[in-house]
Amino acid sequence: MFFKPKKTPPKREKGLKVPDDFWVKCPSCQSILPNIDLEKTAKVCPKCSYHFRISAYEYANILFDNGIEREIGKEILPDDPLDFPGYKQKLEKYKKIYGLNDSSIAGIGHIDGIKVTGFFTDFGFLGGSMGSVFGEKFYRAATHSAKSRIPFIAVLFSGGGARMHEGIFSLMQMAKTTVGVLELEKAKVPYITVLGDPTMGGVMASFAALGDVIIAEPGALIGFAGPRVIQQTIRQELPKGFQRSEFQLEHGQIDMVVDRREMKKTLSRLLKIMTSSYL
Ligand SMILES: [Zn+2]
Repeated sequence: MFFKPKKTPPKREKGLKVPDDFWVKCPSCQSILPNIDLEKTAKVCPKCSYHFRISAYEYANILFDNGIEREIGKEILPDDPLDFPGYKQKLEKYKKIYGLNDSSIAGIGHIDGIKVTGFFTDFGFLGGSMGSVFGEKFYRAATHSAKSRIPFIAVLFSGGGARMHEGIFSLMQMAKTTVGVLELEKAKVPYITVLGDPTMGGVMASFAALGDVIIAEPGALIGFAGPRVIQQTIRQELPKGFQRSEFQLEHGQIDMVVDRREMKKTLSRLLKIMTSSYL
């Protein structure tokens, strides 16, 4: 005799639902990694040490004991001085996606108890490019550092350098940020730059290259014009690893190549040495 159930059992879901951002594929070694594991390794692939690009706030949280404690220049908003087609819409779009007013953040924090001013750029927001807000924030943060005599650290992920949508106004920021560095120099305040992948164009041709100590993350592209542009201009094959951190270290352009997982420890050690005479 067969027993016939009165109700049809509920349909079973096919597999577990996994959030889209649960897994990440490493672009270098192709390993599939759980995102949660990458959080523990400062977003560095545990298998091949590939450094994933991270946001400005993420970097600040990695370096600073309690994140950014007080922001500098958060109220400054970008303008569209040239009425550049589509620029206002782009600013609105990126503001919604990243929750940032512009491509950089600046603020006060502590590294192993040492008070510092930090400046961080975010590649996601228009390639971390340098416009008027970027320049003004950098200058305000640098002058604050100089007046208060606290070290200044700039962490950069800036692909395009100057922001084309602001034309000459963005190029002027090369001079403005350089004046900010001069204020630090006059006050004899340590200035360290940390160059991420990529640090190019007007950013590298101004304040990024002026650090008392210039550190780069492994494998970061660092230079003025990119390798493709150079190759097309000089019509010659470029050497292997051209413009990558390790190449730039070998050629004296930067001082150190440091793994992101060791960055806080390295900065802390440098700051202790550099501030021992006056703090
Ligand atoms: Zn990997």
